Amino acid sequence: NNVGQLNNEGRGILIVLSGPSGVGKGTVCAQLRKCAEDLVYSVSATTRSPRQGEVDGVNYFFKTKEQFQSMIAGDELLEWAEYVGNYYGTPRDFVERTLSSGKDIILEIEVQGALKVRQKFPEGIFIFLLPPSLNELQNRITTRGTESEETIRSRMNVAVEELALLEHYDYAIVNDEVQKACERVQAILTAEHCKRERV
Ligand code: 5GP
Repeated sequence: NNVGQLNNEGRGILIVLSGPSGVGKGTVCAQLRKCAEDLVYSVSATTRSPRQGEVDGVNYFFKTKEQFQSMIAGDELLEWAEYVGNYYGTPRDFVERTLSSGKDIILEIEVQGALKVRQKFPEGIFIFLLPPSLNELQNRITTRGTESEETIRSRMNVAVEELALLEHYDYAIVNDEVQKACERVQAILTAEHCKRERV
């Protein structure tokens, strides 16, 4: 397929994968990193502490609050958001350089950030990942086992508000099965390449 190839203008396509916490954005993205080899993944900066197994520079760039604030001040972030007590942001340079080199890049970010990216990149593709149901969402947030009860409650509250923002997106994918969700993202990307093809 043509995923990751040059489009007619030589610029890559920006894809934003968003949706409520616990919907499985991280899992779908991890799977995409394995099967969509030409798709570049944007590594975010965060002030949250690493979870077990997370590696600095691979899952996130782990920063102190001071470091994060200086990235904001230096205009180094394409967007940033505060989410359940921590900051998260997308390093701008890497995104710009990847797109200029003709490669597609995927951002896995929460919805406030996604809406900010939409203003700067209206030509991007915005995909909203949906849980099969709200009950299922709560199960997923709870069984991850890494969050305290209070964090789970905050994340559920945020998730319900986030679901209302679906209308601002180009596509919705129900994440009932990771591999299927991953294939749908790739199908969307292929379709977008075809749409942008010109003679
Ligand atoms: P977590 O702490 O579970 O890794 O991430 C919490 C939320 O922050 C998730 O919804 C995740 O998609 C989002 N997130 C991760 N990186 C970024 C980023 O760079 N910008 C924004 N706005 N959200 C992010």
